[in-house]
Amino acid sequence: MIALGTWPTPIEEAPRLAARLGLDRLLIKRDDLVGLGGGGNKVRKLQYTCAEGVAAGARMLITSGAPQSNHARLTAAAAARLGLGCILVLTGERPADQRGNLLLDDLAGAEIVWTGDRASDDVVAEVAAAHSDAYVIPFGGTSATSLQGYVDCARELREQAGDFDHLVVAVGSGGTMAGLVRELGPERVLGVHTGAVPDSRTVVADLLDLDPALLRIDDSQVGAGYGTVTKAVREALRVTARVEGIFLDPTYTGRAMAALLASGLRGRVVFLHSGGLPGLFAH
Ligand SMILES: *Cc1c(COP(=O)(O)O)cnc(C)c1O
Repeated sequence: MIALGTWPTPIEEAPRLAARLGLDRLLIKRDDLVGLGGGGNKVRKLQYTCAEGVAAGARMLITSGAPQSNHARLTAAAAARLGLGCILVLTGERPADQRGNLLLDDLAGAEIVWTGDRASDDVVAEVAAAHSDAYVIPFGGTSATSLQGYVDCARELREQAGDFDHLVVAVGSGGTMAGLVRELGPERVLGVHTGAVPDSRTVVADLLDLDPALLRIDDSQVGAGYGTVTKAVREALRVTARVEGIFLDPTYTGRAMAALLASGLRGRVVFLHSGGLPGLFAH
């Protein structure tokens, strides 16, 4: 493991939002405040994947994602911090404006390769073959090794949060939820499907070699698809900003909060703020 962030991240009471939701207690775990590159959950995973890359002698990191990938932005920042080169393979065509995460990718010095209509994996393989000193980090930074980053987070939560009934977390490539479930068990962790992968339940269960039926997944917040901003998400962003002064992102944490608002959950809840704010500025 290579330290890239500032640990432990803070945890904060959200009493006004708790009252509004009828919860006994709401705590927000601030993994948007990890220190590196604008923050977010990908830093905990990158601490493990980057360590593997450096141990393998890599001078360059390659990864892939959607144009507004938070993982790509944080890989660019991690590469800068470690003195490595960085190539990001992003899906589709280069947009006219370099907004949100794309602006930050460029500031951090990453080279961007657009896939056009080709499969991302094919383009990654081609770019990797042309750079013998490169280390390829998988989609979303999720691997059997890197989910350990969220085992680490779950251990921080044990210290900081005391007893709680539910932990609400957005699911993309699945590593974040998988690490939390590995340490805390499946009963208390509620994953909110974002549409980043076709089936969150299978992805997380496969990472853990667990019966998928044991996992709690809320499928209600995808709307018209991963890249779209739903009415419920707009409302969740507004409520959280107006009641607690905390900004969420439209793709992941906005969906997770929208799910919590609609859930009717009771008791003591922890909400994982997994970052992603730069993506808001691409909408
Ligand atoms: C990637 C991401 C997630 C999901 O994490 P996974 O480990 O890929 O499931 C949640 N929130 C934000 C802001 C993200 O960027």
